[in-house]
Formats: sequence, C-alpha cells, structure tokens
Amino acid sequence: MNINTLSCVVKGEKSVDVMPQEIEFNEKSADQTLIKITRGGICGSDLHYYLHGKVGNFAVQHPMILGHEVIGIIEKTNDPNLYVGQKVAINPSKPCQHCKYCLSGESNQCETMRFFGSAMYNPHVDGGFTQYKVVDNAQCIPYPQDAKDEIMVFAEPLAVTIHAAKQAGDLQGKKVFISGVGPIGCLTVAAVKALGATEIVCTDVSQRCLDLAVQMGATKVLNAQDGNFSQYLAHKGEFDVCFEASGHPSSIERCFAVVKARGTVIQIGMGGAVPQFNAMTLIAKEINWKGSFRFVEEFNTAVEWLGSGKIDPTPLHSATFDFNQLEQALQTATNKNEISKVQLTF
Ligand code: ZN
Repeated sequence: MNINTLSCVVKGEKSVDVMPQEIEFNEKSADQTLIKITRGGICGSDLHYYLHGKVGNFAVQHPMILGHEVIGIIEKTNDPNLYVGQKVAINPSKPCQHCKYCLSGESNQCETMRFFGSAMYNPHVDGGFTQYKVVDNAQCIPYPQDAKDEIMVFAEPLAVTIHAAKQAGDLQGKKVFISGVGPIGCLTVAAVKALGATEIVCTDVSQRCLDLAVQMGATKVLNAQDGNFSQYLAHKGEFDVCFEASGHPSSIERCFAVVKARGTVIQIGMGGAVPQFNAMTLIAKEINWKGSFRFVEEFNTAVEWLGSGKIDPTPLHSATFDFNQLEQALQTATNKNEISKVQLTF
C-alpha cells in the first residue's frame, strides 16, 4: 500500500520545509511495521543540519527528513509481539547485524549503521519527523500505555547518556563531575544518579542550565566562569569520573584538572578540534579519556526508566510546536539561553 505523509525536511543551510511524500508499506511484511509518529524531540544535530546544512563533514546533498528522537503508535504490523494501537518508542539505529562490531555486541560501531536523520551516507538516511514511518519491528520498543508522550520522547537522548555512564564502569558511591549541562549533561546527571553516584558536581556558564541540573539530581553546581574550583584541584584532583558534555576546549581542560589521578574522563560533547592540546596532564595523571557514541541496549533501559518514573526529564521540556511550524520550532531551539528541549507533535 502507498501512504501519503507530510515530512519535515532539511534541504541545506537555513532551508527547511514541510513536504508531502508518498511512502510504500508491504502489508504482508513479516519484519516491518508502519508507525504513526506522535511526537519528536529536536536534537543538537537537527539544529546543526538546519543552521549549517551539515554535521561535521556530513553535508546535506538532497532533501532529508530530520529527527531521530521519536515515538509513535503502531498503525499496521504482523509481529505477534506488537499490536495495532500500541504506543512505542522508536529506536533510531539500524545496525547491519553481521559486521564484526554487530557480532561482538558493539552495534553502535556498526560499519554500515543506518541511523535516522543522518547525511553520513548518500543517499541519506531519512529521520522520523514525519507523519508515517516504516521501521523494522525490532526498532519498536513498547512502553507503558499510560506513560506521557512528552516524557517517553526522551528515550533516545537518555539512552546516549546511559551508554556514556556505562563507559565509566561501576558508579556506585562515586564522585562525579559533569561539565556542560545542556539537555545531554542534565540527562547524564539523572543517569549517573540512577547508577549510584553519590556526589554529582556540575558546571556550566548558564545559571538556568545549572538550576536544571539541580532539579535533575546534581548535589552541587558551580559557574564555569566565576566558580571556585580550588577545592577540587588539591591531591591531583577529586573526581573518580568526569563527563565532558559541552565540547568546549576549556571544559575538557577543566575535566583534566579536577579528575583524580588514574580517574576517567568520558567525552560526550562534540567539539571537534582541541587547539593546543597538552597531553602532559593526560600522561602524568594517567587519565582514562574515553569517547562515547550513541548506544546499544541502553535504549531499552532508557524506555524502562522513563516508563517506570525512575527518571523524570520533565524540567528539560521547554516548548512544543505542531510539526507544521518546523522552522519556528528550530528557531526556538536555537535560543539556548532560554530553551532546553523543544518537541514537535504530529
Ligand atoms: Zn554492523
């Protein structure tokens, strides 16, 4: 069957549109499901595609549907474990399942990953900001049917932070420092708290973000510009684990300064180049500096934690727009001084 759908597409720098499209769905398919998308969250990479027409080296070559944080309702399925009308979170990753990374349980590193709303490959992989979407059955993760949409749509960014937290090993009783508390930093606060961290100190240049970090579970916050960090610099640093979630070079430097010798720094902030990087601190303090990218089974954990109320991301939800107001929603999300997460309804 053919389905008409309206989709939120990016065509290039500062060029977005809500466009009619026709998609195909095989009603006899044993492994694919048709989803009516209900809600989506705008992420930093969606904003990058809008503002710059690219993310890193991946430039938009042709119109691409944005969005990888989406939930929806099952419209048609033949999967015996799913049913029509069921609310599901959509896992935006589609790994190949047979490369060496997929076979070793590291599918977030899949050599041919098809991830929603990514211009990494040409043709690009369309995202989820559309009324109807065909996905693999395995991408549908059911959640409690009485859970709130505006909460469940945080599953994807929360999964990113749970994966990051797991890169640091056991966090039970640990002292954690988080530098940069935008939505991802704030969800990291909640994730490390859920995993047992007892001291969670956060820093950012924005007081609004620091206030949100407290609401998400931070035990102490310090302004990055005029806060007094001296107490954390003694004994070669105080923290077992630091999460760098801003991507700013000075933030990386600060993490290196406050992490204890032989401690761990997890890099989630996507800053790209670090000018004048001094490897001496890394060497002398024997710091474990680890990157963290996307997630594997942590998506299911995120759905579970949100569905059960273990984590409540509500303070991070700033605004909601109808998908037809795509450009206005993106503009609003650009205002990081006042806005955290912007959501679209379909
Ligand atoms: Zn693979």
